[in-house]
Amino acid sequence: MLLEIKDVKKDYKLAAGNKFVALKGINASFDRGELVSIIGESGSGKSTLMNLIGGLDLDFTGEINLNGKNIRELKEKELDLYRKNKIGFIFQSFNLITHLSVLDNVTIACILSNENNKTRIKRAEKILSDVGLKEHMHKKPNQLSGGQMQRVAIARALINEPEIILADEPTGALDSKTSEQILDIIKKISDSGKLVIMVTHSEKVASRSSRVVTISDGLIIDDKINVDEKVIHEFKEEVASKKQNLSFLSSIKLAFKNMIEKKSRNILVSIGASIGIMSVVLMLSLGSGVENYMTETMKGYVNPLVVEVNKKVDESNTTTNIPAPGASLLLSKTEPFEDKEIQDIKKIEKVENVELAYSITSMNSNKLIYGDKNTTVMMLGTVSSNITNENIKEGKRPSTNEILIDESTSDKLGGNILGKEVELEIAIDKKIIKQKFVVSGIYGGTSSSQMGNISMLYLNYDDIVKLARDNDYEIKPTTLYLTTSNEKDTESIKAKIEEMGYQGSKQEQMLEMFTEMISIVTYVLAAVSGVSLFVSAIMILVVLYISVVERTKEIGVLKAIGARRKDIKRIFTAEAFIIGLLSGTIGVCTAYVLGIIINAVTTKIFNVGVVNVSPVYVLFGIGVSIIVSVIAGLNPAAKAAKLDPVVALRRD
Ligand code: ADP
Ligand code: MG
Repeated sequence: MLLEIKDVKKDYKLAAGNKFVALKGINASFDRGELVSIIGESGSGKSTLMNLIGGLDLDFTGEINLNGKNIRELKEKELDLYRKNKIGFIFQSFNLITHLSVLDNVTIACILSNENNKTRIKRAEKILSDVGLKEHMHKKPNQLSGGQMQRVAIARALINEPEIILADEPTGALDSKTSEQILDIIKKISDSGKLVIMVTHSEKVASRSSRVVTISDGLIIDDKINVDEKVIHEFKEEVASKKQNLSFLSSIKLAFKNMIEKKSRNILVSIGASIGIMSVVLMLSLGSGVENYMTETMKGYVNPLVVEVNKKVDESNTTTNIPAPGASLLLSKTEPFEDKEIQDIKKIEKVENVELAYSITSMNSNKLIYGDKNTTVMMLGTVSSNITNENIKEGKRPSTNEILIDESTSDKLGGNILGKEVELEIAIDKKIIKQKFVVSGIYGGTSSSQMGNISMLYLNYDDIVKLARDNDYEIKPTTLYLTTSNEKDTESIKAKIEEMGYQGSKQEQMLEMFTEMISIVTYVLAAVSGVSLFVSAIMILVVLYISVVERTKEIGVLKAIGARRKDIKRIFTAEAFIIGLLSGTIGVCTAYVLGIIINAVTTKIFNVGVVNVSPVYVLFGIGVSIIVSVIAGLNPAAKAAKLDPVVALRRD
């Protein structure tokens, strides 16, 4: 015997500890090739029995043995395989999945088993032409008549070569002529050696089956063999059980097909969810853009092989600090280095050379004169390795008796003074000293727009010392420049300098402080925008919940066909994944476009773009979006996977 039912009892638990006994002890055996009609009044327990045989409900007592094996003893995995490969379900209301084509509806079980596409389609074509639907393969269910839909459902039930076909009122929703056609097909199926158990209300239908079982009030009250229709058949080979799983790609495809159906809703949700990602990415890009700009500017006038050293000065006596590029030309008190200190600094590891530097800052007593023009010199410094040739716009670094001037000074002296002789007039200790120098070059380390009109000149340290000495005044270096041959060594030198109680370049320190501040502000802003990610997550959660509710019936069908919990979960997770991918992409693209617009505006105003949407942020944005979305989808997916197929199928 293929199927043996022994003393099967089933009761439904009701509220307050009550129960309703739907099956009171069913005993029957069925064999291959039989076409069994189950008849009985509504509410007599026919569907209940079908669900038990179909493995949709294991909550019963007694035995249902297929090939001698009790299905109640199957593990969850085996039960899924039982539903997938041993049973084919046909429902009264067809229960086709509306967003899938006829072909996909028929082969959904194969997709769930991750079967090869070609064999899947070939098999479906064969079965569809058997039921006369070959030319309708690519239609959607709503483009078919009732009879055609039921034929699709039959094809779906047959696709995995099941041993038992269960049909619960398959002709209940069809007119008599169509019913005849469906019945012909069903008869052919049983003739091919399968066991077909069919619930019906129609006497006519029952009369064409080989056996009629009558159920009343949860018991079999009659079991008649219809000799005319009884045929004996040779058995078919059992199909090897398929153990593959729904692949990631197939789950994405399935999810995608469903999402296409709800296009506008999914797009709107993705746009909503994208706002969070967009603002996070934009904030990070803004921070990185500003930071980049700062360090680029810094690099423009700092030689990376040079470490600047100053002595610490009692800050309480310090006047305003104005960062000046090029040298330590600060409007602050400086303290000179003693020889002993210089010797000690020279000994620092990796330091190759120590250059001495000095600077004079004055508001109005120093002047540079060229012909009949003159200009106030605010800062006079010495040239060291910190001024590289890249910083010099025209000409070269000054050698003895030469001077390097900045652009604005050159402009004020009428321009075009490269190689010309100028006179420097400086006050040292209230004494006015004059000296002639030749302009060796124009310094371009910083644009005058950044520094305003502060004029800066650079001489050789030796020239300044000599100039002072000629006037009985001794100069000691106020700044040291340590050179090294490898950029990597500057960090350790800087650390050592600090350890020794000196301080580095003040503008560098300020820049560091500033960039640190920028990155803190950036992260705070990004975190604030991150709150909107939370809103996105909830939005996605709600949409997926709605999707689960809407598709309850579909989930029931999938389970009846043999989908595992995992497969159902995967389909919904895939949906969350797609929403995440979509919203992430939209968010990143909007951030990118906004970045271009903002950069265009700031370039116009400040001559520099401040938003830097780097590929890292693009990947980060999309990645975060997918993660948030998939996490939001976990719960709805689990809810879908947990749905009871019997309950889900009863839903209208
Ligand atoms: P039918 O023969 O019409 O298919 P069913 O098998 O659907 O009958 O139902 C048999 C009996 O069990 C009916 O009286 C029905 O009300 C009851 N029943 C079915 N499902 C449930 C359920 N989930 N909870 C409680 N009672 C149920
Ligand atoms: Mg019923």
